[in-house]
Amino acid sequence: CDVFCSFCVIPYTRGRQRSRTLADCVRETAALTARGHREIVVTGVNIGTYMEGGADFAGLLDQLSEVHGVGRLRISSIEPMTVDDSVIDLMARNDRICPYLHLCLQSGDDAILETMKRPYTAAEYRSLLLDIVARVPNAGIGTDIIVGFPGETEESFAKTYALLEELPFYHFHVFSYSEHTHTRSAKMPEKIQPEIVKKRSEKVRRLGQIKKQRFHEAQVGRTLQVLFERRDPRGRLVGHAENYALVSVDDPRDLTNRIVPVEVREADVDEVRGTVLAGVELDRQDRVTA
Ligand code: SF4
Repeated sequence: CDVFCSFCVIPYTRGRQRSRTLADCVRETAALTARGHREIVVTGVNIGTYMEGGADFAGLLDQLSEVHGVGRLRISSIEPMTVDDSVIDLMARNDRICPYLHLCLQSGDDAILETMKRPYTAAEYRSLLLDIVARVPNAGIGTDIIVGFPGETEESFAKTYALLEELPFYHFHVFSYSEHTHTRSAKMPEKIQPEIVKKRSEKVRRLGQIKKQRFHEAQVGRTLQVLFERRDPRGRLVGHAENYALVSVDDPRDLTNRIVPVEVREADVDEVRGTVLAGVELDRQDRVTA
C-alpha cells in the first residue's frame, strides 16, 4: 500500500502497491467456482487501486463476474476514495456484484483524519456514501472506526459519533486504538486515557447495535438472495444475503451452498428471518423456476 496511514504497519510489512495479473485472478476465480464455491470474495490491501493490463478495479470485477459458474462476487474492505463512479455503476447494474461495501471511515473528524493521514474529509466520505445508497438499491454498508486515536478530543469523538448516527450504516467494526511500534502514531503525544477509550468504544458499539437492528428491520417485506452456509443449533438454515444481512429460515431441504430467494418476514438485532419463496425449485446452478 502506498497510502501510509499513520496508524498502519501494512506499507512497511507488505510493501508497496502492486496488482496481480487479470489472467491470474480469472484463473483463480474459475478454479474456485469449479470446486463449487458460489460466492467469491475479492480481497486485497487497498484493493480499489487495482490496475493491471489496462483494467482498473471495476474492470477486474466486470471480468470476474463473467467467469463461468460465478454465483456472485463480494468486495471486501475498500478505501472510500478508491470507490469511483465505475464501481458504483457496475454494482448498480450487475446483479452478480453484491450490493455491499465495507468502507473504512476510521474517524468523522477532519483534524483526526488529517493526523491519521487518511486521504479524505468527513464531508467527502458522507457524500460518497449517500451517492452509493441512492444509486445501489438496498445496499449494505459496513465500516471500521478507530476510537481513542491520539488527540481525539470529546469534540472530535462527538463528530465521529454524529456521522455514524446520521449515515445509513449496516454495521461497524469498532477498534479501540492500540499502538504498534514502527507506526508514526506511536510517537504522537496526546494519548487518550484507556478508560476514556473504553467508554467511547462502548458508546459506538451500542450505536452499532441500533443501526444493525434498523437495517434488519428495513429488510422486512423484501425478497433477498441468500447463500445458505450451514444449519445452526436451532436447526435453522443460515446464510448471508447479497447485502450481507444474516438470514435464517426454517426449511427441511438441504439448501446449503445454494443462492435462494427468501421473503423476509421478521427481524431483530441478530438476524432477519423469512421463508424460501413459495413454489421455487432450484437446479444445481441455482436457476430458479417457479
Ligand atoms: S490503513 Fe489501508 S490505506 Fe491506510 S496504510 Fe494501511 S493498508 Fe494502506
